[in-house]
Amino acid sequence: SSLLQLQSLSCGYENTLITEQLDLTLAAGEIACLLGPSGCGKTTVLRAIAGFSPVLSGAIIKDGQPVSTPVFTLPPEQREIGVVFQDYALFPHLSVFDNIAFGLQGKSRAEKQRAVTELLQLVELPDLSDRYPHELSGGQQQRVALARALAPRPKLLLMDEPFSNLDTDLRRQLALEVRGILKDQGIAAIMVTHDQEEAFAISDKIGILADRKLQQWGTPPELYYHP
Ligand code: ADP
Ligand code: ADP
Repeated sequence: SSLLQLQSLSCGYENTLITEQLDLTLAAGEIACLLGPSGCGKTTVLRAIAGFSPVLSGAIIKDGQPVSTPVFTLPPEQREIGVVFQDYALFPHLSVFDNIAFGLQGKSRAEKQRAVTELLQLVELPDLSDRYPHELSGGQQQRVALARALAPRPKLLLMDEPFSNLDTDLRRQLALEVRGILKDQGIAAIMVTHDQEEAFAISDKIGILADRKLQQWGTPPELYYHP
């Protein structure tokens, strides 16, 4: 059973077409990376899946239900999709606790306390609940951003170059850790990265975007042996 389907999806901005006729299927729990030259539309595709930018033709189907078509857009907050995007940095004026609890509105203080403690353990952060983002290292901030995205328990996580401000070794280490967490929790993900080696190390599926099209979509061995 597929969690997410892009059906002949064309997306962009108002009347600017960025990507054309993408078709792909992501199963529950599967991790995918999108690769491609800068400016080819990777972020645009993630934004369309999140519900932040429009679909010009085709459809995005999640759990068997259309969430975006040219005539219908389910609001982002109703999609049950977690996002770690560059323009969704941590709230600087909120503590780590409140940043993570942001996605838990409507829960009691005790429930928030329990959930945040669990999430901090999950992302292997010591209890830094009372700190503010500027008091954390880059890697710690990324872990908090991940914990915040996972707080509402999404089945799908979208990550746009989540660790790009970290050095290569730390980024790859964190990418592998994130893979472990997602596999443990059965969460599917699509991640944009410019690091091919990282993509091959963590992905079940790899998509290569170029010239407006999804040129390839397959498992790492499929792409490796048939480049
Ligand atoms: P990247 O995803 O490569 O880190 P950005 O997503 O910030 O970079 O921007 C990618 C490109 O999109 C840049 O060339 C930028 O100028 C352009 N861009 C970003 N926002 C807009 C906008 N609102 N209108 C037009 N172009 C934009
Ligand atoms: P990538 O993530 O692969 O670097 P993007 O999806 O950020 O590529 O950008 C793809 C194209 O969309 C670029 O040509 C960029 O200038 C354009 N673009 C990005 N954001 C906007 C926007 N808000 N309005 C119009 N064009 C945009």
